[in-house]
Amino acid sequence: ADTVRLLSSSQVVTSVVSVVKELMENSLDAGASSVDVKLENFGLDRTEVRDNGCGIKAADAPVMAVRHFTSKISSHEDLERLETYGFRGEALGSICAVAEVTVTTKTEEEDVSTQYTLDSSGGIVSQRPSHLGGGTSVSVAKLFGKLPVRRQFFSSVRKRKEEVRKVQDLLMAFAIIKPELRLTLAHNKVVVWQKARAADHRSALVATLGASTVANLLPVHQEQPEMVLDGFLPKPGADLSLTSSSTSDKTFIFINKRPVQQKDILKLLRQHHSAQYPDDAARHRFPVLLLNITVCPSSLDVNVTPDKTQVLLHNKEAVLAAVEALLVSLYGFHPE
Ligand code: ADP
Ligand code: MG
Repeated sequence: ADTVRLLSSSQVVTSVVSVVKELMENSLDAGASSVDVKLENFGLDRTEVRDNGCGIKAADAPVMAVRHFTSKISSHEDLERLETYGFRGEALGSICAVAEVTVTTKTEEEDVSTQYTLDSSGGIVSQRPSHLGGGTSVSVAKLFGKLPVRRQFFSSVRKRKEEVRKVQDLLMAFAIIKPELRLTLAHNKVVVWQKARAADHRSALVATLGASTVANLLPVHQEQPEMVLDGFLPKPGADLSLTSSSTSDKTFIFINKRPVQQKDILKLLRQHHSAQYPDDAARHRFPVLLLNITVCPSSLDVNVTPDKTQVLLHNKEAVLAAVEALLVSLYGFHPE
């Protein structure tokens, strides 16, 4: 049974980034306005996410990391109007299976926080009072300690550095879509990236991408019967060096504020963007942009991959058509 748990957990928790993503989502679901992420040895020795959210009630603690426990939905109908990032109760339990987890938490009602040490099946091994203020801090140590092959994957310095960069890209995505959020990322006790609270998406973009890039982006907002598209796209004919990148890391696509990887939407954005430029200048580049597509929660299925980065849109054709129409109205022509 232990082996089965280890294997299924390693599909939710595939990397340091996926740990950070799950913990970040929990912090945001808890209403946090401030989150600090700390990595030690690229996150392999320790990854810690601390928030100022609502905390975990003492009564929920024994089950918080039990598989399929979630405080977020209570019926199938809730799934149809999902407004939280989490809903399956799988993350915390999965992380426990592949690392050593402690959770320190305090709700408003409690005077002192409690630190829980969890075992590999998510049960509480011990608990003690702690000095942490309100909110929750989850510490994940010795990631993949029991999965030498997975650990081996991160043995090259290049892979490990790439992992920290991916964590930063992920945090940037959350920073942009949640402007009011204060965020820091520290690696080996050095703050490598931070973002203060911002008033709106534009200021959040400036804080993450820089003012000169944002000066070359155009706010877009389009309401349709079934969806709303909004964001910031490169101005027609904008300076390529400021508004494109050789990787897709700065092409921030969200569906209902969830950072997603949607190949077909990305392809469409690239085609229309690069078609404006003569020659091959933009052929192999990705536009720097923010696009958030808001659809009715019931037309979105987040359960496609264990890590929730791929989603299934029931009205995908309509969404693609709307994105295409937006791009045509902005850039003025159909690429071949
Ligand atoms: P899910 O997010 O799908 O509910 P998780 O395994 O990620 O499942 O978390 C299990 C439960 O633990 C959540 O439903 C929530 O009640 C609690 N929890 C986890 N992290 C936090 C946090 N940072 N703040 C408050 N509650 C949390
Ligand atoms: Mg969760």
